[in-house]
Amino acid sequence: MTISRPDRMATLPTVPAALQAADPARSTGRNGCPVHDLRVRLRTAGLRPTRQRVGLGWLLFAKGDRHVTAEMLFEEAGRARVPVSLATVYNTLHQFTEAGLLREVAVDGAKTYFDTNTGNHHHFFVEGDNALVDIEGPAVEIGTLPEPPEGMEIARVDVIVRLRRKTSA
Ligand SMILES: [Zn+2]
Repeated sequence: MTISRPDRMATLPTVPAALQAADPARSTGRNGCPVHDLRVRLRTAGLRPTRQRVGLGWLLFAKGDRHVTAEMLFEEAGRARVPVSLATVYNTLHQFTEAGLLREVAVDGAKTYFDTNTGNHHHFFVEGDNALVDIEGPAVEIGTLPEPPEGMEIARVDVIVRLRRKTSA
């Protein structure tokens, strides 16, 4: 285990020094600075850019569209030396979701993924691999939807197409 650690560290995104140096003045007023942009994004969404939010936001949003569980992000934070508890990771993911920065995709009762792509799209879920993959383009057509109950409207329809490997008979 200890031997494989340096290899795994090498594949991680480097957390910018600005995150570790607690000097807010350094990252203000500079356009094109990803940490500055992230702070602005958090503020625009109504969230105070605390170090923990910025640290987790950096891990979440610096690598393009992705789907993570709280446990995955917690593990990444540990490896990137962002000091947070699992409870903080949960809370932060839910705050980001409420603020519209993430979309929650519930695969089953025990597994919730957080999607950095908040646009309208559906997913493949590869059973066994526990991998959630975006379905590209308008490949899913929703037919008739039920009439929502009195006083309700349909907010969104999530389709999860579950995949499994073909068994060669
Ligand atoms: Zn997605």
